[in-house]
Amino acid sequence: MNSPQRKTESTADNRYLSATHEVINQPRPLENYNLYEQDTALREAVLREGAGFANDDLSQFGAWAGQADTIDLGNQANANKPSFRTHDRYGHRVDEVTFHPAYHELMRVALENGLHSSPWTNPGKGAHVARAAKYYLHSQVEAAHCCPITMTFAAIPSIQNQPDLAKLWAPKILANEYDSRNVPDTDKTSVTIGMAMTEKQGGSDVRANTTVAYPTGQEGPGQPYELVGHKWFVSAPMCDAFLVLAQTTSGLSCFLMPRWRPDGTKNPWQVQQLKNKMGNVANASSEVEIRGALAWMVGEEGRGVRTIIEMVAMTRFDCMIGSAAGMRQAVAQASHHCHNRSAFGATLSDQPLMQNVLADLIIENEAALAYTMRVARAMDNQNNEHERLLARLATPVGKYWICKRTPNHAYEAMECIGGSGVMEDCIMPRLFRESPVNAIWEGSGNVQCLDTLRALQKEPETLDAFFKEAAEARGTDRRFDQFLAQLQHDFADISDFQYRARNLVDRMALTMQGSLLLRFGDKNVADAFCASRLQSSGGMNYGNLPSGTNPAAIIKRGTPVVG
Ligand SMILES: Cc1cc2nc3c(=O)[nH]c(=O)nc-3n(C[C@H](O)[C@H](O)[C@H](O)COP(=O)(O)OP(=O)(O)OC[C@H]3O[C@@H](n4cnc5c(N)ncnc54)[C@H](O)[C@@H]3O)c2cc1C
Repeated sequence: MNSPQRKTESTADNRYLSATHEVINQPRPLENYNLYEQDTALREAVLREGAGFANDDLSQFGAWAGQADTIDLGNQANANKPSFRTHDRYGHRVDEVTFHPAYHELMRVALENGLHSSPWTNPGKGAHVARAAKYYLHSQVEAAHCCPITMTFAAIPSIQNQPDLAKLWAPKILANEYDSRNVPDTDKTSVTIGMAMTEKQGGSDVRANTTVAYPTGQEGPGQPYELVGHKWFVSAPMCDAFLVLAQTTSGLSCFLMPRWRPDGTKNPWQVQQLKNKMGNVANASSEVEIRGALAWMVGEEGRGVRTIIEMVAMTRFDCMIGSAAGMRQAVAQASHHCHNRSAFGATLSDQPLMQNVLADLIIENEAALAYTMRVARAMDNQNNEHERLLARLATPVGKYWICKRTPNHAYEAMECIGGSGVMEDCIMPRLFRESPVNAIWEGSGNVQCLDTLRALQKEPETLDAFFKEAAEARGTDRRFDQFLAQLQHDFADISDFQYRARNLVDRMALTMQGSLLLRFGDKNVADAFCASRLQSSGGMNYGNLPSGTNPAAIIKRGTPVVG
């Protein structure tokens, strides 16, 4: 017997029952727009910092980065985590990580666009700035795979400490090609490079490392050694070679260790397992044991930290770009959503309280971007003493501050979208899970503060350069002048710097951001920055812009327009 329900469903009235509602007041996805053209702050920074020549290229890249298909590459690479196998089916050790094709496609685009190479192959005015801008666009599509791109880019200054090795490796590192095959580097025309410093017992304190390097013959820079030990974190383990820290009788030294030996056999560098990460999942990170792997010493024996720190400084800079980019993607999503969603009778982005939150998020992003691009210009001008000193101090300060500001920024942007922002079918959870990583790796927050102190102690002129640069804005805003004067006063005595370091470094970052925004930024953004960051009213969360600021203008500037 048919139930009454079934009988009803089979009638012509069915269409009334199934058509439960019309979907309205839901924004369309933020896609098919030009990430570069729709980012006023980025375009201004590119011109200001000397990379106007890259404008057309960035515009083309921005169009690619905003396409729905491109955005989907990021989704696919994260929805399909890399997998790992130690051996092949015949029992041979392979240490092979398999990635989704979307990951490989993103790697290909990054490498073919020279995100790992351009400032080294075409140095000069605006080279780092142009690369930073493109990296900023690229990592908004997918941030995790940028890890091996960054490490490959950053390896060059360290490897150049050993000219014979650099001659051999640099051409392949700098080639704008992607070759993902697990074969000896001698069979490849392009390679990627990773870094392996961190061990279980030491972590940030690499002096506690126990991995030992034994000379196979002659000792010293450029000579081959066999390494025995372990590494607790090694990202992108499919890289073709790694810069590794290991102990010799003269202390911690830096080595270049390829995956394969020159005779075509596998170097005994064995991946134990992949890390089970909360974020950065498209990229593999691993635990490794090193069982006599052949490696060549890079730079002076016993000065391994000094050698690898040049790589680390570059990766710290990329952490700034990556975190600023994460903020941009978060505010683009939040402002797009609020522009296209109404509640209680008005568009969200027109409602005063939401305006305060959105504008505050945009300001944070613009400040992070302005700071990052200024450091990029300093990197382009390392022959100038002021720029060299500035980059030395502004890198740990910025790495600390910008990366640390990002997780709460991602969360707050997610909240602007409401419940849908928590769902895995949008980018917000990925941005949120990605956000703490930059703050922790490449030297976590306290370590950056301690590095700031180290720079001040070793080269006190770095502080003079920092304040000289910041003071360029003196006289343009009373709040800034007072903030700067107080900070300079508090630096008169740095005897208990370690204890006060976070407070001082926070304020250094705010001073530099304020200075840059006042001199070069949008008037409304700079005013709201000074009002909310330099003249505290006590509020701690986003959405604390005081009355008198112009959130509507800030939101208009920061909201991408989709055609
Ligand atoms: C996803 C991911 C990928 C990674 N990939 C790599 C990689 O490819 N290669 C690599 O070498 N490493 C890698 N790392 C390791 C990373 O660089 C370390 O986790 C980081 O340097 C911190 O070391 P640790 O985890 O041992 O923490 P610890 O060194 O134990 O530090 C713990 C806390 O103590 C703080 N601290 C340390 N010393 C002091 C001090 N003197 N005063 C005050 N506070 C202090 C730190 O800031 C931190 O907050 C990766 C980490 C992550 C999360």
